[in-house]
This record gives sequence, C-alpha cells and structure tokens, in this order.
Amino acid sequence: MKYILVTGGVISGVGKGVIASSFGTILKSCGIQVTSIKIDPYINIDAGTFSPYEHGEVYVLDDGGEVDLDLGNYERFLDVTLHKDNNITTGKIYQSVITKERKGDYLGKTVQVVPHITDAIQEWVERVANQSVSQDGAKPQVCIVELGGTIGDIEGMPFVEAFRQFQFRVKRENFCCAHVSLVPQPRSTGEAKTKPTQSSVRELRGLGLSPDLVVCRSEKPINQDVKDKISNFCHVPPEQVVCIHDLSSIYRVPVLMEKQGMVEFFVERLQLNVQMPRPRKLINKWRDLADRVDSLRRDVKISLVGKYTKLEDSYASVTKALQHAAIDVGYNLKISYIEAADLEDSTNHSNPVQYHEAWQQLCKSDGVIVPGGFGKRGMEGKLAACAWCRKTKKPFLGVCLGLQAAVIEFSRNILKLENANSTEIDPETKHPVVIDMPEHTQGDMGGTMRLGKRKTIFCDKPQFTSKIRQLYSNKEYIEERHRHRYEVNKDYVEQLEAAGLKFVGTDEVGERMEILELEDHPYYVATQYHPEYLSRPLKPSPPFLGLILASVGRLNTFLTKGCKLSPRESDNDSDYIDSDMESNASKITNGDEVKSSEGQSASSSE
Ligand code: GLN
Repeated sequence: MKYILVTGGVISGVGKGVIASSFGTILKSCGIQVTSIKIDPYINIDAGTFSPYEHGEVYVLDDGGEVDLDLGNYERFLDVTLHKDNNITTGKIYQSVITKERKGDYLGKTVQVVPHITDAIQEWVERVANQSVSQDGAKPQVCIVELGGTIGDIEGMPFVEAFRQFQFRVKRENFCCAHVSLVPQPRSTGEAKTKPTQSSVRELRGLGLSPDLVVCRSEKPINQDVKDKISNFCHVPPEQVVCIHDLSSIYRVPVLMEKQGMVEFFVERLQLNVQMPRPRKLINKWRDLADRVDSLRRDVKISLVGKYTKLEDSYASVTKALQHAAIDVGYNLKISYIEAADLEDSTNHSNPVQYHEAWQQLCKSDGVIVPGGFGKRGMEGKLAACAWCRKTKKPFLGVCLGLQAAVIEFSRNILKLENANSTEIDPETKHPVVIDMPEHTQGDMGGTMRLGKRKTIFCDKPQFTSKIRQLYSNKEYIEERHRHRYEVNKDYVEQLEAAGLKFVGTDEVGERMEILELEDHPYYVATQYHPEYLSRPLKPSPPFLGLILASVGRLNTFLTKGCKLSPRESDNDSDYIDSDMESNASKITNGDEVKSSEGQSASSSE
C-alpha cells in the first residue's frame, strides 16, 4: 500500500480537498486503484450533529456514515464508495482508545497521546486504507490521506506526529507528502509572495515531515522565477513545485496536474508498477468535460429555497448535482439561493423590499428546488414556494424536507386540512401529515436517523405514467441514500393520492413513502431520500436531470425519444425542444387557486 499525505499551509479553504482528489484522479487514469481518508482533527465523533453553518453540508455515505463534505469530492472524482471509517476525527480516535483502556487492554500502563493515540491513528489508517472502495471488491493500491486544517493547529499535532512515525513504519518508497500552500498575489505590487509558503514548509519540517511536493495555490499563474524561489527556499527540486492557479472549473485541476508531470513523479517516487499509455483516456474525459463547461452558452436559472443560504457549502452536493445535470443537458447553471423566510408574509410586514426581491427571484427562475433541512424556521416560505410551483406549473424538485413540505402544502390547500403540518414543526397539529419514525427518535441526536443506502421500489399507479420512473430507466427499484427522522403519515396517503399527489415509490414493504409526483404538471417531483449524494459529473442523478430538462422545456421530448439527449453538435435542434414548452411557462391553473390563511396565493405573490 502506498500513501500520499496531503497537508495544508497558511490558510484553510484553498481547495486542498480538490487537489487531493485530483491526485487520485490522475493515478486512476493509469489504472491504479485509489482510496482516500479524510482526517478532521475536531473532537466530534462525526459530522452528524453539525449545523451546516459550521463546516458546510453533512455528507452521507452508503453505510449511513455522516461525514465531512470532502468525502463527497473523493466519491465524485474517484467514483468510489467510501465507508464511515474513511473519515477520522479526534473524537473517533479517543473513543477507541478510551474503550480499550476501560477493557484493560493497556495492561495497567499510563495511556498517553504518544504512543497510544499516535499508534491508534496509524493502525486506523492502515486498516481503512486496505478496505475495498470499488464495486468489484478490488483492493486499493494507493491511499490519499488528507489532513484537515493547517500545519501548526494544536488539534492537528497528534496526527502530524503519527505520520512522522508512520513514514518510517511503511518505508520511504511507500509514503510521500504533498503540502498545499497559498501564494498570495497582492494587487498593490502584483508580485507573488512566497514568504507564507516558506514559513509553513519550515513549520512542517520542524515537525519531522518533509514535503515531496509543494502545491502552490494562487489566483493567477505563477512564473518560473517564483517557482524557482519556492524551490530554493523550501528545499524541493523545481519540478516538485506544482502551481495550480484559479481555473475555469475544478475539472481542469487533474488535467493541469497531469500536464505538470505529476503522474511520472508519483510513479517514480512511490515505485508504482504501471504502464502508462498516453493519451490517458480518463484525463481526456475530464478535459472534454472542462471544455464543455467552458463552451456553455445558454443559461438555466434554478432557485434553491433553503434555510442555510448564507453559506453555499451548506448545499454543496445539491449544487454539484444541479451542475452535473445542467452540463449534461448543455446549459450553464445559474443558481439563486433564496432564504425561505424571505418568502413569508411576516417578512412582507417587517421588510417588504426583501420580501418582494425574494419573490421576484423566485418568479424569474426556470425551476425550483427545495432541499433538505431541519426545524421550523423558513418552513412557511418553503410551503409558499411549493404552492407557487404547483399552481404555475413551474418545474419543482423537493428533497427530503422538500418532499415533506410538498405534502403539507397539498394537504392544506387541496385537501383543505387546516394547519396540516409535520410533528417536527408543530407537535400539536390537528393534521399530522408528516410524523416521526419512532425507532429513529431515541433521544440521542448523533447517528440515530434513518441513514444510508436503502431500496425504493417503484409502484404502478392506474392511469398514471411516472416521469421519474422513466428517468430512472424504468427500473423496478433503485437504491439511494437517506438522512431523515420524519416520514409521510400513511393514514393520509389515500386522500393525497385520490387528489392527484401520487406516491410512485415506497420502501420494500410499502410503508414509507419515498417518491411523490404530481399529476398534470410538467415536473413536480419530490424524494424522501437525497439523490444528490450519488450524482457524478459524468452520470447525473435522474431527479436532477428531470428538473433541468423540464426547466429548459425538453423533458417530454427526452422521455419520448427514449431518454436520449440531442447530439452535442446539434444542441439547438428544435426537434429536441418540447412543443408545449411555451404553454408550460408561468401559467396559473385556476381550479386550485386556494387562499389558505398561511399559504401564499400565486397571484398575490407575483
Ligand atoms: N427534518 C426532516 C426529517 O428529519 C428532513 C430531514 C432532511 O431534510 N434531511 O425527516
């Protein structure tokens, strides 16, 4: 097993995760099996209890692990399936050491950071690196280990010390270290500054780790002089200074790395046994994808109505899934993040400008997504967005809480169940159309939800052809990842279906409603699971693909042409545009023009 440790210097947030994933991508392009480990030196056991404002979204794995969003980058770049143990936290390491101590495994010794914690880290890394992460069960050959935070953080120290020891344990030809550092280019002088990189490399050396690669992140390309200077001051040969400036898309990162000879470096340094036919197919795929992204000329405007809109990372996978679908269909994604509470009547009273701006944004969009979320704030705004999409026939995708919102809105405004709600929002509601799942509400917040990969079985509905099922290639069942504690109350399903809200997918025993789809609507779909986690750049997630296709008026044609996109070169071909596109646009259907006490009416909001 070969290890590549990726550390960070100067500041965090310079794209260390993308750099580390790209190392994996270029190695994969030579046919090497790659796995990865992300280390987060915080004390939390996992990311499950974080607010999205802390570190961005909580990413969910097949096995139900709630982990850092960087694991999403690895899964998407490497097309692998990681396990919860691929995310190490200080909390997990201490928990395992303390459990051993209680069992008496340390035979009366004093348990200390060195050697017990550092040993536990090394054992964990070795154990997890050897686990297969691919469908065919192949054993990985290279493990990329990304150490979160920056060198010098107190919390990261035991990990740095563990790897200082680890390099001797696994031997030189099996371990190398890449240090990702920021090279600022202040506007006033226009010159690239190398001092911060020098100091962070010095600090890393002081801790006993010498970087084999210094990856310089900068805004603009770095010239040879600066590269030579970094090489000189940081004691690395110039060819081991890699410069990655800001690029038009992240898909260009592996391409640029390959161009700078990274593959040859790793093969030599880690004595990897590969034949490397050029051109490498996988790298070409990434290049084509990046070229395609750069050549997109038409826009599709999607509004995301959520609660954590101040930090875009809170919806990282949803945004990526929308992008994958938009690129596939040939459109440039323009996403506007709308704070759900701004769509509520109360905002109209306190800040009418904000309220009208939010509604204006919503009305200008081609499609709307209501993503997952927790708690009461903004819920009425989400319901208003659902109502508006339903009435104006605007393409809509609800995810998790988004599905629950669609059910609540429909119950209130079509079934006239006054103040219908989820017991998460209003435990006393007279019409609990969404209720908790008792086995997932045990008091503890961490790791107790209905989590991970589960089956959804499609159900046949008389006289109803499901669009979402066709988007999933008419499969009998699908497997997607979950993270929820509440579900649709089965007692209301019959009424909801009779009025046109069809539950086209359920769990294996037909108890849990997984997918809903509205009759007579271009695209009104919601899923209890989170389809965004399994979306890949070259394999967009079907519900997202449906949303984008419907938003640009191509869904029906796509479905009737056997789920094929128009050939790339004839993207403008009118044969591939739905003939009813015009009629779909912002039209209000009358029949259900209901004004509930809380709900927005479409006409009043436009
Ligand atoms: N709060 C809802 C539940 O627990 C939805 C969760 C989510 O959107 N991930 O069921």
